Amino acid sequence: MKDEKKLIDTVIVRYGELALKTTGIRNWYEKILVNNIAAMLDQRNIRYSRIKREWGRIFIETDNQNAAGTAADVFGVVSTSSAVTTDSTLENAAQVCADIAANLVQKNESFAIRVRRTGNHLFSSHDIAVKCGDSVWERLESLGRDPSIDLTYADREIFVEMRQNHAYVFTEKIRGVGGLPLGTQGKMVALVSGGIDSPVAAWLMMKRGVEIIPVYFNNEPFSNKVAHDRAMECIAILQEWAPGHPFTVYEIPFGNNLESFLRICGQKNTCLLCRRTMYRGAYEVMKKEGANGIITGASLGQVASQTSANMYAEIYGLGFPVYHPLLGLDKTEIIDIANRIGTFKASTKPVKCCKAVPDYPEVKAKYDSLVIEEQKLDIEKLVSNSLSNAKVFKI
Ligand code: ATP
Ligand code: MG
Repeated sequence: MKDEKKLIDTVIVRYGELALKTTGIRNWYEKILVNNIAAMLDQRNIRYSRIKREWGRIFIETDNQNAAGTAADVFGVVSTSSAVTTDSTLENAAQVCADIAANLVQKNESFAIRVRRTGNHLFSSHDIAVKCGDSVWERLESLGRDPSIDLTYADREIFVEMRQNHAYVFTEKIRGVGGLPLGTQGKMVALVSGGIDSPVAAWLMMKRGVEIIPVYFNNEPFSNKVAHDRAMECIAILQEWAPGHPFTVYEIPFGNNLESFLRICGQKNTCLLCRRTMYRGAYEVMKKEGANGIITGASLGQVASQTSANMYAEIYGLGFPVYHPLLGLDKTEIIDIANRIGTFKASTKPVKCCKAVPDYPEVKAKYDSLVIEEQKLDIEKLVSNSLSNAKVFKI
């Protein structure tokens, strides 16, 4: 295996949905994707000499074994492979295949050559498969490995990607995170409480190319510092998925508002008023940051308060878009994603529940009566006071 490791000189990066775009958009997306890949490699201290774009592919020139896994973590990437590059001739490709096979295919194992070809060559894909297959066979036989070819259930596969000027040989495809390059779908404000759900919601929108502006409403004295730290930890983990796109984080004091709801309004409605006021605060951030929407971690019916009636009442009369990417997901599905993206551990640190939550919160809110309730408050003043005391910082 050692020799094979030394050989690797390139990472092939494949991207999916991008390829469906018109040339202009695609070029723009690809450039962003290349920048994001470079930033991710830099973040993980992986050296490379160049990242080049060719129609349908991105190539990272590097001999680092971890580069392929790193590039696979960049939004927009469908898969990656560590590859050995050679000239686009049958002889060279066959030679590299044999070198790789010598390390890869053990005694009595079957193998298959998988070919993909683009460009103009004097040979076909079939010719490549035959030439490379022969060359691997001869090498394995000379090593006493008793080779066999099995195109359906091969123990080992060797892939040859023949392009106009180069042939790339590889043995593995690493599945990428998918989605669209971060920075191609504008900005949105992400409400991050630090619980399991909201970081996952933010991440899913980042995966679709959205740059997020994380907002944390600090409910102290109704919550504690641990809740704050947990939210910040989640935001820091999300930032690792977005190298090159430093977040502007808003921490907005909210305890006074909760105090007003409890003092002035019916207790039953506290959570709904809280949500409507948070949205209004988030809307102010949205305008300031040139963002186009607000993201929450709501999942339908997950907790008593997340009923469709409540969700309607929460946005009734508010004229800005609030998105809930987890709405249709089960808790187990959300936890799976939280584990995968690395926020689960931070999100499950025990914190004190918000002390403003009533014993019997409203679950069948009436949007119109909620608005009447809200009119008892000087809601605009509450929002502007909170905003003027917000802490705004980069991670
Ligand atoms: P989470 O697991 O994200 O905390 P949850 O299931 O506890 O969500 P709620 O507490 O009802 O649900 O909150 C719903 C959504 O409202 C959260 O997912 C988050 O987007 C937003 N939110 C709630 N509290 C805060 C907060 N203190 N700061 C920022 N956003 C918040
Ligand atoms: Mg919560």
